[in-house]
Amino acid sequence: MRQSELDFFKEMLETRKTQIIKNILGVEEEMGMLRLEELHDDADYAVMNNNNLVETAIGEQQNKELREIEVSLHKIVSQSYGRCEMCEELISIPRLKVKPHAKYCIDCREIAEKKESK
Ligand SMILES: [Zn+2]
Repeated sequence: MRQSELDFFKEMLETRKTQIIKNILGVEEEMGMLRLEELHDDADYAVMNNNNLVETAIGEQQNKELREIEVSLHKIVSQSYGRCEMCEELISIPRLKVKPHAKYCIDCREIAEKKESK
């Protein structure tokens, strides 16, 4: 991969990383405020529990993405970025533009997803 392309993806990954960290911190701030507020009746409590569920699911997903982004940033430094972790073929640029932290090429992703869903 050309240096200009590496720079491009590095910037994309870093922008996304900043955004996710902001999201995660934002969610925690909101949750902290909710906890401080007095809950007046059962309805409030139910709403809060529901929010917790949603926030946790989103949080988990974002943490996972954040880890994958970190791995990709390391790969850029060690010059192994853009290679499929399974077959070691180059991942196509258009695919990386959609998902810069992709671990697999399109073929291997399908195999990996089938394994995960089992
Ligand atoms: Zn592959």
